[in-house]
Amino acid sequence: MIQFDSKLPHAGTTIFTHMTVLAQQANAVNLGQGFPDFDCDPELLRLMQEALQSGHNQYAPMAGVPALREAVAQQIQALYGRTYDPGTEITITAGATQAIHAAISALVRPGDEVILFEPAFDSYEPAILLNGGKPVPIRLRAPDYRPDWDAVLAALSPRTRAILINSPHNPTARLWTAEDMQMLAEVLRDTNVVVISDEVYEHMVFDGKRHESVARYPELAERSYVVSSFGKAFHITGWKIAYCLAPRALMAEFQKAHQFIVFCTHAPSQHALAQYLPCGAHLQLAAFYQQKRDLFVNAVANCGLRWLPSEGSYFVSASFAHLPVLGEMSSLEFSEWLTREIGVACIPLSAFYHDGFDEKVVRFCFAKREDTLHEAARRLQRLSER
Ligand code: GLN
Repeated sequence: MIQFDSKLPHAGTTIFTHMTVLAQQANAVNLGQGFPDFDCDPELLRLMQEALQSGHNQYAPMAGVPALREAVAQQIQALYGRTYDPGTEITITAGATQAIHAAISALVRPGDEVILFEPAFDSYEPAILLNGGKPVPIRLRAPDYRPDWDAVLAALSPRTRAILINSPHNPTARLWTAEDMQMLAEVLRDTNVVVISDEVYEHMVFDGKRHESVARYPELAERSYVVSSFGKAFHITGWKIAYCLAPRALMAEFQKAHQFIVFCTHAPSQHALAQYLPCGAHLQLAAFYQQKRDLFVNAVANCGLRWLPSEGSYFVSASFAHLPVLGEMSSLEFSEWLTREIGVACIPLSAFYHDGFDEKVVRFCFAKREDTLHEAARRLQRLSER
């Protein structure tokens, strides 16, 4: 047997895979991994078939199909008022995780520091570590998960290469406000720190609130990679297709990494999306998902868990710390117990902290059909009967 040291000694199977496998074994309603259990618009499937049949089956251009980049540029201009040049400032990627990985690979050298906020999506830290970087986590805490700007200032150092932000936030379902964006601009003003902004839930912002894209803030946009996802926008997470925006010089470096990671992205999907994007179906997502959030939250209001606010994303979280006996469990134990005994899978927030920091909060995904949400609620009601 050859001997080698793992580059990611602490990484196992992701929590999403773990809970999905457990949900299947236990025949539980899977509100763990974040993905819709309903299909996309048949029109998008028709456009995909058309793309497949009209010969779009060879490599796409490295940066993406020009018509799709054009359509993205127009959408960003209309939504956030910033112009990205489709020729030099937009790249279509194999999902948002790959875009974030490419941005980190383009920027981070051994010993460079990257600031991130925990709970953090699980791919961020491994991407930094694989590039020899040092993750510098700033802890957000229940129930508000507000960023502590003094902690951000204290975390900045001459080695800080980038800061990773994410709003609407997975897993806490919180939004960054205009004041947060101004604070971010202020603390970075005299630095060369690059922002990597994960905005994959940008269209799922509830209660009339506004998505604060870094693209709205010229001072931030000039130093930022903005990443978003067609998978989330059009209920096609399995297509693994997303995009990255950045000013020209940053995008040139991104593409140097991107072209040697995947070279280019699935061509037929890009042709289909280029036709479909201008129809603007995703602009209705806030109302669509707000209705699902409200249906679920109302149905589970009295099940015994303490529900935290969900301002955006696919998710809503709940605390179980106050429950007799169950409150003694770790969040992972509770998630496994809930999956096996109650028949509803969720995700422990402790999995999003590098040190397993545990405030006994679990995340549920409401991007599901109404009958799925009703069935999950019916099962969760059993918690209150115990
Ligand atoms: N983004 C989704 C979530 O947070 C799925 C992630 C995954 O399975 N890698 O649940």
